[in-house]
Amino acid sequence: GAAAAKMDIYPRFVVGPAASNRSSCKACKAKIDKGEIRVGTVTMGEYEMTAWRHLYCQKKPKGMDSVDGLVGYEALDADSKAKVEAWFSSGGTPKKRSVAELQTDAELDPKKMKVGDMKKVLKEHGTDASGSKKEMQAQLLAVKDRAAAQSIYQAKTIPGLKEILDKNGQLKGGTKQELVERCVDGKLFGKLPRCPKCGGGVLRVVYSSKVGHGGKGKFSCPGYFDDDHFVRCNYTATEAEREDWND
Ligand SMILES: [Zn+2]
Ligand SMILES: [Zn+2]
Repeated sequence: GAAAAKMDIYPRFVVGPAASNRSSCKACKAKIDKGEIRVGTVTMGEYEMTAWRHLYCQKKPKGMDSVDGLVGYEALDADSKAKVEAWFSSGGTPKKRSVAELQTDAELDPKKMKVGDMKKVLKEHGTDASGSKKEMQAQLLAVKDRAAAQSIYQAKTIPGLKEILDKNGQLKGGTKQELVERCVDGKLFGKLPRCPKCGGGVLRVVYSSKVGHGGKGKFSCPGYFDDDHFVRCNYTATEAEREDWND
């Protein structure tokens, strides 16, 4: 049948809940929580490989005109199907917001918004729009705070962003988008501290969702270089002391 025919097409796309919390997203590098809906791109090289992404870190596959093109869709429960459909109809990853659009988002008043408008804004920000009205309002408040911070840093140059990160003792490598995200995270939730165990590495954090995590996630130490020799560290924690951000 149709499902069997799909199995030898590459790349093919599979969808389903993560079986464990051991996979990480190929796009944003963050962990994919057990049970979270993820999309896999299956390719064939020497052997078959699957690259997993969060739903909203994956663009809608080119040329696919319905969710039925996703292997595994039929087996999902109703809730997950609704999530996948919302993602699919939004085209996958959201377009980058301009500074002007972000400034408008920062002025939103979720309490006065209609459900349809709330859904539209949430989708534009690549976040889940399948919850209750209350959940969407809370999600929108987080989007609004993020948009306010994003509009500030998005308008800065790369050297300007690096200067701010340096002043706050944070990592300075990466693309402009990564630098902006790091500044936004610091502004909203505070600096990432040095590792309390080795004192050398600056902790990194992985959140389970794009917005609405309130700065809580999984912290770990990436280790550090002492002269030219790498010092490993296995520190992990679910909390970290994050001092206020300086602009
Ligand atoms: Zn991701
Ligand atoms: Zn450490």
